[in-house]
Amino acid sequence: MYSAIAVLIALGMAAFVAMPLLAREGAAASTLPVDVTPLADLKRRRLVVYENLKDLEFEYQAGKLAAPDYESLRQNYLGEAATLMAASQEAEQLKEIDAVLEHEIAARRASRKDRLPQDYVCPKCGFENPVPVKFCGECGARITDRPSLT
Ligand SMILES: [Zn+2]
Repeated sequence: MYSAIAVLIALGMAAFVAMPLLAREGAAASTLPVDVTPLADLKRRRLVVYENLKDLEFEYQAGKLAAPDYESLRQNYLGEAATLMAASQEAEQLKEIDAVLEHEIAARRASRKDRLPQDYVCPKCGFENPVPVKFCGECGARITDRPSLT
């Protein structure tokens, strides 16, 4: 009975150790679907850990595991879950920052584009200078009422 439990635990530990390695190899070797982001991958791995925790709980409730073994395996899974959770929170934050920056950049580009024609209209001859200039390309007058491009 004791050796059966030992084998079970050994197998469980082996699977626990091998699974991320296998997952990584599989991801690198084969064709990934386009929508598999690092974030989605982290979530998937977290789900696997939760499944393992549920299985562990079930086995413990069924009397297949001794309390110390259950406890140490559970701590392993929880540690893994915490690591994955921290990693995906980080990834989530980066994604949000990227989104904010993209929005800012797009807004700035849009406003710059909107402003350009009026910004470089010559006050003297009315020529619309196509690029940022200090002096009119048509008559050479200084273009003064130009808002700064910040
Ligand atoms: Zn001019």
